[in-house]
Amino acid sequence: MSQKRILITGAAGFLGSHLCDRFIKEGYHVIGMDNLITGDLRNIEHLFKLTNFEFYHHDVSKFVHVPGDLHYILHFASPASPIDYLKIPIQTLKVGSLGTHNLLGLARSKKARMLIASTSEVYGDPTVNPQPEEYWGNVNPVGPRGVYDEAKRFQEAITMAYHTFHGLETRIVRIFNTYGPRMRLNDGRVLPAFIGQALRGEPLTVFGDGSQTRSFCYVDDLIDGIYRLLHSDYAQPMNIGNPDEITIKQFGEEIIKLTGTDQELVCVPLPTDDPKQRRPDITKAKDILGWEPKVSRSEGLKVTYDYFKSLPEKEIQHKDF
Ligand code: NAD
Ligand code: UDP
Repeated sequence: MSQKRILITGAAGFLGSHLCDRFIKEGYHVIGMDNLITGDLRNIEHLFKLTNFEFYHHDVSKFVHVPGDLHYILHFASPASPIDYLKIPIQTLKVGSLGTHNLLGLARSKKARMLIASTSEVYGDPTVNPQPEEYWGNVNPVGPRGVYDEAKRFQEAITMAYHTFHGLETRIVRIFNTYGPRMRLNDGRVLPAFIGQALRGEPLTVFGDGSQTRSFCYVDDLIDGIYRLLHSDYAQPMNIGNPDEITIKQFGEEIIKLTGTDQELVCVPLPTDDPKQRRPDITKAKDILGWEPKVSRSEGLKVTYDYFKSLPEKEIQHKDF
């Protein structure tokens, strides 16, 4: 059988680079695409020497052309951390809407199956916990996070429309907070923020009183869930995440213990519309994909801490967002 060709957008980012690794390992020809707005070529530089890897430096919100056959498209390009999408709100809206439309058109012309990276943010500040896929969410469209949440909700809607009206093969993964090596130390997300602060000997900044919850999934588990979803025949949205829920205050305490610092937690104001609770209902992933997370938070955090600790000192000290 001929080698399968897959386009991965956002390839130089955290999740995109891990997806490139996985599909290379599975024997695919991988075409990475990224405009490097929040990504870093160092995440994929080890792939440049391979003959089954190509890279296009391109903004997917502009017309996307890829020569040759394509069997799969994974659309992961998008700013993903709150400070990124608040800094570049229009690009965030464009990559979720125009970018998705361009890639759906490409998928249609190549008869490729397309999987989009949606998010637990489509549930907004949820009023039910845990969140099942049937929950429609509680999003403020004009609040600061609206640029990300609504881009992702539109992304799901247009993807489902291509599925329904054009018969395109599509998959929608709703990703819950994921962590691991290759996150940017200064991307503002809570895990790199806390580890960076611990490494620099600064207090850990807990937003609000720290009673809000999140459920953190290790990257290898997430990638495996996405791999299974892509190869399943399930076209409805699917949650992939780790249901082990924790408050941000407890999480800060865990990081202090892990890093062995004697830092303290300091409370700073809670950002507008910060969701109070978040935990995936993964019944569907278990039943349909036979998937559930395997890596405990203590194992995953250790690997991630070792990664951040090994970064050059200059990078650890650089905290400009
Ligand atoms: P990231 O910022 O590390 O990676 C995103 C990549 O997309 C970057 O390399 C960036 O340069 C690229 N990109 C952004 N706009 C682009 C454009 N217009 N054209 C081409 N490339 C562009 O973020 P991540 O954590 O790897 O997130 C990847 C995807 O997963 C995003 O779509 C995000 O919304 C989704 N997601 C991530 C999480 C998580 O916990 N990491 C949770 C939910 C959803
Ligand atoms: N958070 C925090 N301190 C930080 C960064 C984030 O307390 O330095 C909180 C943030 O308010 C949120 C949680 O940690 O309640 C997760 O934030 P993150 O940006 O990682 O992801 P998201 O809010 O998108 O889930």
